Amino acid sequence: QRGCEEQEPVTGAQIIAEALVAQNVKYMFGIVGIPVIEIAVAAQAAGIKYVGMRNEQAACYAASAVGYLTGRPGVCLVVSGPGLINALSGMANSNMNCWPLIVLAGSSDTNQETMGAFQEFPQVETCRLYSKFSARPSSLEAIPVVIEKAVRSSIYGRPGSCYVDIPGDFVNKMVNRSDVRYTECCLPPPTSLADPTTVNKAVSLLKNAQQPLIIVGKGAAFSHAEKSIRKLVQDYGLPFLPTPMGKGVVPDNHPNCVAAARSSALQNADVILLLGARLNWILHFGLPPRFRPDVKIIQVDICAEELGNNVKPAASLLGDIDAVTQQLLEHLGKTSWKYPANTEWWKTLMTKIRANEENSKVLASQTSLPMNYYTVFQYVKESLPNNCIIVSEGANTMDIGRTILQNYHPRHRLDAGTFGTMGVGLGFAIAAAMITKDECPEQRVVCVEGDSAFGFSGMEAETMCRYNLPIIIIVVNNNGIYNGFDEGTWNEMIKSGDPATIAPPVALMPNAHYEQVMMAFGGKGYFARTPEELQNALRASFAEKNGPSLINVMIDPVSDRKKQDFHWLTRSNL
Ligand code: ADP
Ligand code: MG
Repeated sequence: QRGCEEQEPVTGAQIIAEALVAQNVKYMFGIVGIPVIEIAVAAQAAGIKYVGMRNEQAACYAASAVGYLTGRPGVCLVVSGPGLINALSGMANSNMNCWPLIVLAGSSDTNQETMGAFQEFPQVETCRLYSKFSARPSSLEAIPVVIEKAVRSSIYGRPGSCYVDIPGDFVNKMVNRSDVRYTECCLPPPTSLADPTTVNKAVSLLKNAQQPLIIVGKGAAFSHAEKSIRKLVQDYGLPFLPTPMGKGVVPDNHPNCVAAARSSALQNADVILLLGARLNWILHFGLPPRFRPDVKIIQVDICAEELGNNVKPAASLLGDIDAVTQQLLEHLGKTSWKYPANTEWWKTLMTKIRANEENSKVLASQTSLPMNYYTVFQYVKESLPNNCIIVSEGANTMDIGRTILQNYHPRHRLDAGTFGTMGVGLGFAIAAAMITKDECPEQRVVCVEGDSAFGFSGMEAETMCRYNLPIIIIVVNNNGIYNGFDEGTWNEMIKSGDPATIAPPVALMPNAHYEQVMMAFGGKGYFARTPEELQNALRASFAEKNGPSLINVMIDPVSDRKKQDFHWLTRSNL
């Protein structure tokens, strides 16, 4: 087919677009400018959906979410120098989360290198720290090969970010099609199995456990291991605990879910099957006092270097989560063993779960105004469809919301993640809404934001309106970071001087009308102070199918988490 077009000249922009299509890339997010405008135009012409964003950071967050949600990387397209530097946040976040991502940036022309060209910057070197692969094609002809390698590297082994640098003069330069080194789509990542002897050992550790626990991480979600992990939990009666983005691999309402007894489950388990989660800060490093000093960890991960981090595993299973879980199931299937339902361990966990649920209920039922977090989330929970994708960020908003809002499906929760990045929410929501629009149009994306978190990428409200995305943003507004002040206190406080010298750094504008940000671009906005106003706003937002809504819910500026057994992140409690 190509034979007759061999002398046909093609531009660098076209080569890039065609190479991305050949690698099955479907979405591109970016901000255009010199020298990348033609790349975005060529990508659209080649059938890639292009979403123009308002800040490269948000564009890169969006592209990274595509990688996690679909298993195939999205592309972030940015200009040179400052454009790329803004995108580094998204690259770092994606790499930390082990999510595939391709970043393409324009860079200075090849004949101006080192001369102080417009926006010149050592881009390939810079990106190395934020990615697993960073390269600049040596010629137009080599572009498809480099793009194939970037896409393949992003999904093989531990997934991550990859960078391809595009010299400005490549974009409009032409070569003959016959000279271009076109490559086919890379094969899907090969599946690796764990060593059978170690699988045996893992099974015997599990069978001898008094107080077993399965931890399900976002690596399990990425591996599409839901079917095998659900079977493992269900058939063998094992308690499980999801990490924040591991939620939904097994539904949160499964009777074996011990999320509401998280601290005690971690603290007392004697054998832990760790499926695609790192023993980093999120899991308190796997160390005392949050874990037993003698806890036996069966660690399953696709990345060999991860095995043994912070805790020496009792069994290291190197391989794909889904494949290894199936290996475990196969061995367990040969026995009649099942973890008994009437153990002391189950009794302890159940007692703790009931007590915690009761505490949340009491807080949620408070009728005083302004509302507290628990009351707000109770109403939000009641209005969420089972299959909605929940995006969430903020401090208390994310932490409390996670405990109340349920996930029933894998890869249906996106949040600040491993890197604890604030500002990801709107980009993630845009990516999720683009995908659901194509694949499951009746599915909704709900973005639950703290007022501070919303501010980082608030201008993406315009993007949501421009693309008519039916996203619902709920801003849980406490007038500040962690805590804020009511209007009266704030006014009193700043009367005596310059806010820069006297206002607490955590304070944000009291009663800010964030809903008007959405209304400014034609979206729907609601201001809610009471349960009734909140419920009405939720009803109206879910009824709206054609564009975004923003519900700005005022809560008590000093509302807090319920009392915790451990203080988050304090050194002495690790
Ligand atoms: P969480 O935030 O849920 O605790 P992490 O991001 O810390 O999860 O850990 C995810 C782990 O999953 C990483 O160590 C990564 O190497 C691993 N991983 C990713 N994909 C796979 C896969 N297909 N099979 C096995 N492990 C995987
Ligand atoms: Mg706040």
